[in-house]
Amino acid sequence: MTAPTLPGLAPAAPNPVAPRPGSRAARMALPRSVDVLKEIAAEYGVCVRPLAMRRTDLDTGLTEVIDLPCGATREDKCAPCAKKNRRLRQAQIREGWHRDDEPLPGPETATEAQKSLILFRAHLEFSRDEAVRAAQWDQVTDLDEAIREVEEAIAAEGLRGRVGPPHAGVDEDQDEEPGRRRKRSTRRRQDAPELPRRKVERRTVGKTYTGRDGSTFRPSMWLTLTLDSYGPVRPDGTPLNLDRYDYRRAAWDAVHFPRLLDRFWQNLRRCEGWNVQYAGCVEPQRRLAPHAHFAIRGTIPRDVLRTVAAATYHQVWWPAVNVQRYTLDRLPVWDDQAAAWIDPDTREPLTTWTEALDAIDDDLGAEPVHVVRFGAQVDARGVMPGTEDAERTIRYVTKYITKHTGDVHKATTERQRKHLDRLWQQLQLTPCTERCANWLLYGVQPKKAHAKLKPGRCKGKVHQRDTLGIGGRRILISRDWSGKTLADHKHDVRAWVRALLGATTDSATAGQLVDDQGATAERIRHAWEVARPDDPDVGPLAHRLMRSISERARWRSELLAAKDRAAQGSTDLSATQHSAQHDGEGTQ
Ligand SMILES: [Zn+2]
Ligand SMILES: [Zn+2]
Repeated sequence: MTAPTLPGLAPAAPNPVAPRPGSRAARMALPRSVDVLKEIAAEYGVCVRPLAMRRTDLDTGLTEVIDLPCGATREDKCAPCAKKNRRLRQAQIREGWHRDDEPLPGPETATEAQKSLILFRAHLEFSRDEAVRAAQWDQVTDLDEAIREVEEAIAAEGLRGRVGPPHAGVDEDQDEEPGRRRKRSTRRRQDAPELPRRKVERRTVGKTYTGRDGSTFRPSMWLTLTLDSYGPVRPDGTPLNLDRYDYRRAAWDAVHFPRLLDRFWQNLRRCEGWNVQYAGCVEPQRRLAPHAHFAIRGTIPRDVLRTVAAATYHQVWWPAVNVQRYTLDRLPVWDDQAAAWIDPDTREPLTTWTEALDAIDDDLGAEPVHVVRFGAQVDARGVMPGTEDAERTIRYVTKYITKHTGDVHKATTERQRKHLDRLWQQLQLTPCTERCANWLLYGVQPKKAHAKLKPGRCKGKVHQRDTLGIGGRRILISRDWSGKTLADHKHDVRAWVRALLGATTDSATAGQLVDDQGATAERIRHAWEVARPDDPDVGPLAHRLMRSISERARWRSELLAAKDRAAQGSTDLSATQHSAQHDGEGTQ
């Protein structure tokens, strides 16, 4: 086989204003070869931060170090892996969007073996109950052990979920103070929005329309939801008046945006009466507030989407934060004896989380500390399957998912930096969760308070400058979207490549391709462990990168040749070429 031409290695054209040969400036002008190596790695889709795994053949005892891609989802960590991840997300959105059948057919019927295990588990339950009544505690312990084993067997038989909740003493989450369970007061309940309510059918696919000529089509939707205005902004995203912009509301809205989106889908499903499915992402707008784009399967009248968005809100029933009682110079202190946070001067313990919530319950006029709603701007349009519009929209959804939130709109002007700083100041003080250390600033001990809290310095993601308060997942895909996980989509890509290469490839590449793809026989024959970078069999990163690039380049030209021969062309090569080799499972 001929070695493929590698880009970036052609001799550079002489620079007309080159510095004196041999001078320091001339040397510094030369690209560093290690940077070129990384550039080429990126071009060939080779992970630049591979994880070395040592594979031991259990039959022969031979070991081999294999580089697994790091699986990063952000470009700044590893561009090739981030891009690969984006392509998988695109495939996932594409597959779920316009499908006309239910993605998850009902479960298969249980086998005889599965049924007999459940029956056996039921007998054990009966015996355990008898032993408890007879106070035969040693028997109870034995039976618990047997139950655990049977439940493992049940899981191994391929049944989903737990057959019943565990018995007391096992896995109990002591969420509240011992001895009392908090009942959410009726006053702190989320008020129901004024929307029609229907029973939600299990159906997840939209309506099919029939044209006059008898042809059928099933359009889908594209929806953008934004947050409210916090004050007028200029085209560069900065407020007309920084002092009048409502940074506090902007910060709280950003932190609670995911809950608002959840409520929206819940309300929409109830209002429409079917199990509406979506795939989308949360991105910052230029004004640095989050908004969300969604592909929706099936069509929903625009009026309905607007009405549901307008009626949807999320109430935050947390203690009041209008008075900041402590500052970073004067903070509450932890008292070991009282096992509580106390005032540094009076030595009085701060209000506990439970007390603070009780106070809200007892206050008849209590209002939620924050209510988050959507803004008036709701964009929705229909998209026909298989059109360029559909593809463009998918690219648009996934455009920024390889970037940090803070890198989507880089602050380049003084005004933009100021705007970002003001928002960040608020985010630093905004409690992120019930357990946020920032509660101490407001004189409240957070839920499950402990000595290690750092008031005003919570490590929660939303407080960090580059998250803009968007702390949760940015990719939001409903459960019955494509009926597949990201790992399934990855597998599909590889299966396609395997089918294409199939008979033609040389054995070395084929072996690696088929390997670690879920062939169980292969799995059992090998033991895997993480190799440390300084282990003698691992070798310098540059050597490993060079080997991977060479392998990838050869493999790519083979794939191209095979593709030419097959000339199927039904699947886009670019969507798959980086995904085949050495892919580990579950790297996301
Ligand atoms: Zn990587
Ligand atoms: Zn926090």
